[in-house]
Amino acid sequence: METYTDQYIGGGWRPSLGEGTITVLNPATEEALAAVAAGDAADVESAVAAARAAQRAWGASSKETRLAHLTAIRDGLAAHQEEIAATVTAELGAPIGFSTAVHAALPLAVASGYVELLAGFEFTERVGNSTVYREPAGVVGAITPWNYPLHQIVAKVVPALAAGCTVVLKPAEDTPLVARLFARIVHEAGLPAGVFNLVTGIGSVAGAALAAHPDVELVSFTGSTAVGRAIGEQAGRGIKRVALELGGKSANVVLPGADLARAVNVNVGNVFANSGQTCSAWTRLLVHQDQYEEAVAIAAKAAAKYVPGDPTRPETRLGPVVNAKQRDRVRGYIRAGLDAGARLVAGGVDAPEGAERGFFVRPTVLADVTPDMTVAQEEIFGPVLCVLAYRDEDHAVELANGTDYGLAGGVWAADEATAVAFARRMDTGQVDINGGRFNPLAPFGGYKGSGVGRELGRHGLEEFLRTKSLQF
Ligand code: NDP
Repeated sequence: METYTDQYIGGGWRPSLGEGTITVLNPATEEALAAVAAGDAADVESAVAAARAAQRAWGASSKETRLAHLTAIRDGLAAHQEEIAATVTAELGAPIGFSTAVHAALPLAVASGYVELLAGFEFTERVGNSTVYREPAGVVGAITPWNYPLHQIVAKVVPALAAGCTVVLKPAEDTPLVARLFARIVHEAGLPAGVFNLVTGIGSVAGAALAAHPDVELVSFTGSTAVGRAIGEQAGRGIKRVALELGGKSANVVLPGADLARAVNVNVGNVFANSGQTCSAWTRLLVHQDQYEEAVAIAAKAAAKYVPGDPTRPETRLGPVVNAKQRDRVRGYIRAGLDAGARLVAGGVDAPEGAERGFFVRPTVLADVTPDMTVAQEEIFGPVLCVLAYRDEDHAVELANGTDYGLAGGVWAADEATAVAFARRMDTGQVDINGGRFNPLAPFGGYKGSGVGRELGRHGLEEFLRTKSLQF
């Protein structure tokens, strides 16, 4: 087992100033994979100092210079696809097929999109007698979770660099290895020292120090509501910008006349992908009461195809969840749903058969879920689908909007116009119409408790800019 006691700061790997290490577990085997430095406030201090020192020159660099570096990062991501997929499978437990198609390929698509976007992006515009300049926001503190560990890093770091910001990244403690691999890719891309820095460590220590640092001008955070709220409150006190991506409880609404079988099958795939650890997952399936039992039967049948197994095998569709805490939390939610009167049609609380080791959870479908139940309101973040019945369209809107969250959703209807009309009534940041696929250039982010700000595409780049007007 490798032990890494260094941090990537100021253009090179430096001994961490923090004491001790964090052991990274393979969630499928519970074996230790590696240990990384448990960075502390002193590491954050030196990383932020490096980022601050590099900020002015990087912010003033030409678009062509930044484009060349971004292109090199994109090429590095392309060259390391296999290693990325294997690393995410090892530390997150995602099936290798999914790691290859999503955990490795999506960050590459996002980086490629930013190379193209930056090439055509205008940082100045003329408004009447003014010239409006879009300038970098400054030093960015990026705090990322474990569920899409590289995607979430790239979705923050790449647009921040494109905007001319310098960055200190604090990745999740469960998935620091792909973050270290990303730092290697950035290093190989030859960025000036201090433009990108990585501090591995515990959230309440390194993450908190980064979010609180007075020289960090913008905090971009993805993770739980509790931590996001604390970061937002602190940012308010320091008049610091924040972008918060805090998860969801998204509804997939099947309207009468839609292709029910397809809508339900796609929903099951959507909610079990990545072991249900997707903030935008359709965790609530809303079906008309007349089609309810048919939908439940389709969901149960589809769920049976997801057998938890070894994520390194190409045929595995469902791996473990990330850690023991998450496994217990997800099972606790399943139990709470059953105690509240939900009907178990697939899965359950017990460990899957044959899974003596690893943080596995049975892919679960709960029917007869009502909106007052905890499982209908809180983010479970595991392979659990809740099926709810609605009476009519207004009731479906009320149910869809009836949580604190508003990140994503789906609508299925006989025709696009009907689906779009329904989607416009949903309080949520993005909606897939009749199974429309994920677009890495479209703005991603939440309404209501799902957060503030947008990632990806032009909107994601603009998060890292500030605006200055000169009058003539
Ligand atoms: P957290 O919000 O705790 O973790 C997200 C990131 O924030 C990690 O890098 C974490 O570090 C860091 N962090 C933790 N505490 C602090 C702090 N006080 N100050 C600054 N940074 C901090 O999420 P969890 O990993 O605990 O997941 C719990 C639940 O959150 C999940 O079950 C799910 O419901 C939700 N979640 C939502 C995500 C989303 O995509 N929106 C992603 C992940 C989780 P460290 O890893 O060291 O704790």
